[in-house]
Amino acid sequence: MGSVTQPPRPRKGLLRSALASTPVLPILPPTMPIQIFNSLTRQKEAFAPLDPAGKRVLFYACGPTVYGKFHIGNARTFVMTDVVRRWLVKRGHDVQFAMNITDVDDKIIRKANDEGVASEVIAARYTDYFLSMLERLGNMGGVIHPKATQHIPQMVTMIADLVARGHAYATPDGSVWFEVGSFRDYGKLSRMPLDEMKQGERVDAAQQQLKRSPLDFALWKGAKEGEPSWPSPWGNGRPGWHIECSSMSMEALHSQTIDIHSGGSDLRFPHHENEIAQSECATGKRFARYWMHMGMLDIEGMKMSKSLGNVKNIDEVMEFIDPLILRYFFMSAKYGDKIDYTESTIHQCQSAMERMITADQSARRILGTDSPTDWNSDEELQATWNEFAAGMDDDFNSPRALAAIAKSVTLLNTRIANENDKASIARATALLAELREALGISGELVRKNTGGLGDEEIESLIAQRTQAKKDRNFTLADQIRKDLLGKGVQLEDSRTGTIWKRV
Ligand SMILES: [Zn+2]
Repeated sequence: MGSVTQPPRPRKGLLRSALASTPVLPILPPTMPIQIFNSLTRQKEAFAPLDPAGKRVLFYACGPTVYGKFHIGNARTFVMTDVVRRWLVKRGHDVQFAMNITDVDDKIIRKANDEGVASEVIAARYTDYFLSMLERLGNMGGVIHPKATQHIPQMVTMIADLVARGHAYATPDGSVWFEVGSFRDYGKLSRMPLDEMKQGERVDAAQQQLKRSPLDFALWKGAKEGEPSWPSPWGNGRPGWHIECSSMSMEALHSQTIDIHSGGSDLRFPHHENEIAQSECATGKRFARYWMHMGMLDIEGMKMSKSLGNVKNIDEVMEFIDPLILRYFFMSAKYGDKIDYTESTIHQCQSAMERMITADQSARRILGTDSPTDWNSDEELQATWNEFAAGMDDDFNSPRALAAIAKSVTLLNTRIANENDKASIARATALLAELREALGISGELVRKNTGGLGDEEIESLIAQRTQAKKDRNFTLADQIRKDLLGKGVQLEDSRTGTIWKRV
């Protein structure tokens, strides 16, 4: 396949994120291989990267389509991917990590047409938004972010290879389709019966007629009026979504086979199934060796959906919940399990984070100018580290890791109670700091969840705001609304007055 058998080209079009570079985490060699639940084999497997030295790891995660804000469920996927990456780094791996940005897509084009701007404007706006949200959520930088629009020639080459190998065909409308029936292993990831599969992409009736099978999916979409397009042997057009990830993962990581491929569990079918089919048919090699899928997020026991009106965008959530607490909350369930976002869980996570931070601050007050010191010689702390590491080695079991952190906080508090032994406090402080760093929850809280406002205080502030509006003092009215939101109280004006809820 042309795009990867040629000598490595300069990494044109590979955007390095502008975030801080990857922090250097102290390296501790593993005593046992990390176990990963491989969604492909549906088993836990000992992780062994392709690299014969066992060091370099090629890791690709599906990134966003940049047409709007992303919600708290997407945020969980991105954060848990970072938790996995951090642990691999902590265990001494040299992790090459790529996450694509889909910047050409039906949804982007629709949004651009609605706003009367070019689709590049929409894509650029939401790429910036995406990167800034990842940074606020505490994800590490140093990510390779390939953009679809900058890899079109490589995708065209891959599609041409698929046509040449008899796995794809062009139709008179200028589109190219992957012929699902040509790949015997189709369905090996999702394990769905073929007759229950639906591609779910928008295909008009005329195109449906042209396809050899309803299950065939688009590799290349013939140009339509008012849409961005690029030249190809089949005429002008644009790539299908699935081919982007097949092409960009190999391009960004310089290998036809990658170690880990991850994404939300909603991408397992058809997206990841199609990625496997395209990649393996184009190269004749295995595509990804370990597939990892991040679980979905419910809101108060309900599936998050536009029709229920309970979709929470991440920037809005971070208006009133500190990113550290959110991160803690995401890690409170295993990455592959469903997680339920409830007020009471968020409060528990807040208490745990506050306890951790308070212990650290108390310890540092006692230590004064003394630094935290190496904890390795301390058996009690060593045992806590072992529990943490055993949890993370066991398929990145973050709830177990958080339990070990809670234990290390208890140990630190016990030592603080006996102020005389500064050296033992210094060691326990160092361990706590290291465990927090490993999960990306270092730092202070910048935002309190609720200001502890009682109902009466809230009602009184709303009355002040109503009066301010009557007085046409909209600056004050708006300030009161913002202050309340900062304390976790959301106002909604209706014809009958202002209603409020804790959010
Ligand atoms: Zn993808």
